[in-house]
Amino acid sequence: MDSQKIITVKFGGTSLADANAFLTVKKIIEADPARRYVVPSAPGKRSADDIKVTDMLYHCYMLADEGEDFSEEFVKIEERYNGIIRDLGLSLDLSEKFEEIRNAFKYHAGSDYAASRGEYLSGIVLAKLIGYDFIDAAKVIKFYADGTFDSEKTNIILSDRLVRHERAVIPGFYGAMPNGTIKTFSRGGSDITGSIVARASASALYENWTDVSGFLMTDPRIVDSPCVIDKITYRELRELSYMGATVLHEDSIFPVRFAGIPINVRNTKDINAAGTMIVPSARDFDKEKVITGIAGKKGFSVINIEKDRMNAEVGFGRKVLEIIENEGITFEHLPSGIDTMSVVLASELSPKQRRAIIRAIKAECEPDSVEIEDGLALVAVVGRGMVSSKGTAARVFKAVADANINVRMIDQGSSEISIILGISEKDFDKTLKAIYSEFVK
Ligand code: ASP
Repeated sequence: MDSQKIITVKFGGTSLADANAFLTVKKIIEADPARRYVVPSAPGKRSADDIKVTDMLYHCYMLADEGEDFSEEFVKIEERYNGIIRDLGLSLDLSEKFEEIRNAFKYHAGSDYAASRGEYLSGIVLAKLIGYDFIDAAKVIKFYADGTFDSEKTNIILSDRLVRHERAVIPGFYGAMPNGTIKTFSRGGSDITGSIVARASASALYENWTDVSGFLMTDPRIVDSPCVIDKITYRELRELSYMGATVLHEDSIFPVRFAGIPINVRNTKDINAAGTMIVPSARDFDKEKVITGIAGKKGFSVINIEKDRMNAEVGFGRKVLEIIENEGITFEHLPSGIDTMSVVLASELSPKQRRAIIRAIKAECEPDSVEIEDGLALVAVVGRGMVSSKGTAARVFKAVADANINVRMIDQGSSEISIILGISEKDFDKTLKAIYSEFVK
């Protein structure tokens, strides 16, 4: 082993749902001495109808905050942890911690504080189980007074702290504001803590252990058992995530991307599976498949504008975009032709906005026609291999045409790592299936 190599490992809620899951986590950590920093989530669901500890805490705190009796709910939370401790055979008594938390609930410590206790307690149990130091995230993950994350201060404090701990558990999801008040990231935020710890410890790798074997090439609800993506670049991931492919918290990408650290998404239920490797950059690609993934989203609207000699008119595009801006709307895509311009919007327009936009475009741009079409779905075909493989676009369009799907818009960004198709929402599933079977035989 490279003695310098450090791996930061993060485990999600289902990977810490009960004692058996904790034992799997221990086994994974002990299998590689480079796994020196560990970020746990709160215990998640043990079965489909179970409740995550985080949700139990939110609910319990809501009762406390409304002045209701929350003791019964609180006992259930204690039991989750005591059950895990008992089944693991640990000599650990959390009763003082429970007492402290119960009191803080009575004194309205805030719902962020309440939710954060899930990770806090899970971190204490895990540190005891694997014999690592415990570092309270409130001491090392810092937020500004307005509640936004203070990345630079955190990086200084945390890296300074980590060099003093050979091995440590740092609970995910929360940190503290300058006055000490606990603040959490948004839901699923332990992914972010893992990424922050990886950056501050100058890890060679950030392993994110969850309950799926990485990113799938497309939506498994539409395509039966799609392949796992073995390698994807940050940019490709960004394109797919924008279209709704989610495994990681969106904000978890930034700290590691900034530091050029790869993320390996792994599955605690299939520990030998290689998972998906997310890398800063890559040139190589699977020649068989060419593309990396296909994702899509419904619910877009498009403003179609036509005007003879639009290309020769200075300021035409600016005027259109200004009108949209004045309505407080952002646009998603802007495909244009010589005499046509389309503005794709993600947000549902109110009838009032609709009328205002049409009226303003007619008055200020004097188009030959302008109309708003709803019910558009976008499908992104993403792949770093597309730039160097001739005929990829042709294959995409042929597959879609053969499936009798009418393409209403095409947008190939300048990056050439994605082709975006606009189709009718009713053709969404068919499009995903047609493109997938064209590239994955
Ligand atoms: N426990 C938190 C949640 O359920 C954070 C996380 O699991 O990442 O959202």
